[in-house]
Amino acid sequence: MTQVLVTGAAGFIGSHLCESLVARGCDVRGLDAFTTFYDPNRKRDNIDGLLDDPAFEVIEGDLLNARLDEALDGVDVVAHLAGEPGVTTSWGPDFDRYVDRNVLATQRLLEAASARGVSRLVYASSSSVYGTGADVLKANGEPRPASPYGVTKLAAETLVGAYAGTGLSAVSLRYFSVYGPRQRPDMAAHRFIESLLDGRRLTVFGDGLQVRDFTFVDDIVEATVQALFADLPPGAVLDVASNHPTSVNTLVGHLEALVGSEARLDTAGERRGDVPRTEGDIDAAREQLGWRPTVDLRTGLQRQLDWHRAIRVQSQSMARVPA
Ligand code: NAD
Repeated sequence: MTQVLVTGAAGFIGSHLCESLVARGCDVRGLDAFTTFYDPNRKRDNIDGLLDDPAFEVIEGDLLNARLDEALDGVDVVAHLAGEPGVTTSWGPDFDRYVDRNVLATQRLLEAASARGVSRLVYASSSSVYGTGADVLKANGEPRPASPYGVTKLAAETLVGAYAGTGLSAVSLRYFSVYGPRQRPDMAAHRFIESLLDGRRLTVFGDGLQVRDFTFVDDIVEATVQALFADLPPGAVLDVASNHPTSVNTLVGHLEALVGSEARLDTAGERRGDVPRTEGDIDAAREQLGWRPTVDLRTGLQRQLDWHRAIRVQSQSMARVPA
């Protein structure tokens, strides 16, 4: 039985990855610090359905100080998704947290994984490593991050490359704007859906013409699973994107149609570090992983909307349970 360590296991993407690996017959050890970037109870809910499965165990621990020799005991492959997300919050005094959780934590894990001889480590990098210049609009151009967050993701990716050069079979996947059930509450689709369901005004930053390569979480998970086991050159870096760049205004339009109500928009200034366009180049992932995105934006948004509705019903019924 393959033993997988998933860091960031209780997060949005990590929890889906754990479910998928367990469903494929792997033993999964999740490690998560349940950080407070958003409500840790939400993260507990994310993995609640896995806790009774004997193929899953969770270690509550921080990569910065956890006993990694124990976490890696018997582990064949590692999916490293733990990190501090968020472009706009990475400016200013909180940058040290980004360095700690994205760079130092990754280096500590890479060191331990090298020592234990794991057969593959996959790092969850980001489209945020690309910047804004014309030469980098098309992904696989030279990375030049436009935010401190992007700088830390690129630094970690570079560390992955350095350890790959010394014999660890480590690779990076650059995820593009992931959406779907359990999406983080700071992300656009999550905020828009919650506003529409509440009948609240909805805030769009910038002119709404900024384009993102929104990618459904199941497609991200599938690429990550493939990367854990595929024959890849050490240090490989692959974009994982939907290949259908879409404007934020179009995203709002889809959500209005799915929810069945018109959005009342507030506009706010562009946020520092937001780039006008992201667009992945998925040729390498197609060739090297045999992977392709399968979920179109409307279908994926409908699934995310269903999740928002379900957790609302759940919290209403919990509120009715007498104390
Ligand atoms: P998330 O915040 O939901 O999940 C990250 C998890 O990592 C959290 O549960 C957090 O508690 C945990 N964590 C953070 N620091 C830790 C540490 N030091 N030790 C142990 N656990 C720690 O975020 P997500 O959206 O699921 O993102 C997962 C990964 O994918 C992140 O590395 C992120 O940078 C990357 N990524 C996400 C997106 C996206 O659109 N969501 C896009 C590109 C890259």
